[in-house]
Amino acid sequence: MRRLHLALVLAALLPGAATASGITGLVNARIHTGEADWPVRTVLAWDAEGRIVHVGDDARALSDKYPGITLVDAGGRDVVPGLIDAHAHLMNLGFALLRADLVDATSKEDVIARLKAFEKTLPEGAWLLGRGWDQNDWPGKDFPTAADLDAAFPDRPVWLERVDGHAGWANSAAMRAAKRDLGGDWQPEGGRILREDGRATGVFIDTASAVIDEVVPAPDAALRAEALERALAAAVKHGLTGVHDMGVSLPDLRLMRDFADAGRLPLRIRAYADGDSAALAALCRAGRAYEHASGRLAMRGVKFYVDGALGSRGAALLEDYSDEPGHRGLLVTEPAAYAAAVEKARSCGVQPASHAIGDRGNRIVLDTYAKALGDAAGTDHRWRVEHAQVVAPADIPRFATLKLIASMQPTHATSDMPWAEARVGKARLEGAYAWQRFRAAGVPLALGSDFPVESVDPRLGLYSSVTRADLAGMPAGGWLPDQKLTPQQALAGFTADAAHAAFDEKALGKLVAGYRADFVILGGDPLTIPPAQLPKLEVISTWVDGKPVYERK
Ligand SMILES: [Zn+2]
Repeated sequence: MRRLHLALVLAALLPGAATASGITGLVNARIHTGEADWPVRTVLAWDAEGRIVHVGDDARALSDKYPGITLVDAGGRDVVPGLIDAHAHLMNLGFALLRADLVDATSKEDVIARLKAFEKTLPEGAWLLGRGWDQNDWPGKDFPTAADLDAAFPDRPVWLERVDGHAGWANSAAMRAAKRDLGGDWQPEGGRILREDGRATGVFIDTASAVIDEVVPAPDAALRAEALERALAAAVKHGLTGVHDMGVSLPDLRLMRDFADAGRLPLRIRAYADGDSAALAALCRAGRAYEHASGRLAMRGVKFYVDGALGSRGAALLEDYSDEPGHRGLLVTEPAAYAAAVEKARSCGVQPASHAIGDRGNRIVLDTYAKALGDAAGTDHRWRVEHAQVVAPADIPRFATLKLIASMQPTHATSDMPWAEARVGKARLEGAYAWQRFRAAGVPLALGSDFPVESVDPRLGLYSSVTRADLAGMPAGGWLPDQKLTPQQALAGFTADAAHAAFDEKALGKLVAGYRADFVILGGDPLTIPPAQLPKLEVISTWVDGKPVYERK
């Protein structure tokens, strides 16, 4: 009965329905406001514009104060501030949803079976694109080759992105489409073509992927819109009301603006420009951040890449990889060019967010930021380091000194834990995925998923945060367990702390008067249920600006 009641009221709130006072109240709820010590309130009310006007415990007083108020009965359920993913890639998620899903494939045979099934949805001659493979999950753990795909797909080009986005796997038909001979011994700057006897084997690491990417037919406008729409729907379904979208091109920003103009953005996008490119130039020309009037879209920052990822040994390390002597990873951007780009962002008043995974990559960011900030290092600039994944322990306090934000992804830790020690050895793990060491040093953490590298589902991020275990609960007690977050720290990382990292802390991330009515109604209390139940915690409905943008069927 309660669910039916909620559904009926939700229907009344859909666009077109007017209320007498313009005020809507959520009652009979367990509202976790996100304030210090996480008080629980039972009543929340907002105005017609979606601004919170009241938080309290007395439903009758609310009705007295606002005659004609529309009441929504939450059925005693838990309500948390809308979840914000502080590092993600919406368009990539959308295209991932339009590509064969190879995540968690257990073998090359499994990959080929999934591709065969997916191929049935494709027109003749179209490229078969897929993503999400990880050779670490397969017997032998060796990189695959083109030959593995050629028997099943002799003519149709096949191009498959690795789970971390830092390597690609092509069949021979795809390699035949490349513009230059892939044989010999040349290597692209910032990448690696794997070869045997001078012939490309089919795996292309970091920037080397461009030799295949550049010959994949570009998606047209309709497909790009379809991708964004699918990504947005997937996000709100999992309780996300905000996404910090990393690496947004000017055409992507225009697409998002068109969606915002048309009222088709169900959540808030904080777009970070795609490096030193047209989007950053546009911000610099305008002399200010881009803000859409709806509050659903803004671009206030820029994403830079310093190094690659750990899984493909692209992360830049200070010393050799433990499992590949002589190799220290790759710099995706040459340090002088990176420093110039950071300086440009600073002079334009744009917030830099720099991808750094290895300890050398992180040190380059610290040195570059220190130089660019100079005397301004102590101000409230909120420059960000994305991932801050393997950091020299002595460098962690420098994040605090420079007043940087560490934007970290809990599910990266639990995805990488089976092989991270092989890559960097035991000693370097001290500064790896070191959430509590950052906190203890006084560094704010903003949490995210890096979807589609990881799942879009923030419940998995909350679970990884508090367990540092896989979904089967292994290893028992968690991996490097002293770095686990408390449920409150984890939820803050996906709400108020994420909002702060994008300069939204005065409007988003908490449920208090004056803030936006962005919230999620859940099937349980994420702060007190056993951690093992977090991944299955039901998202009942997701609300943005006081309107439902997702409701469980
Ligand atoms: Zn990313």
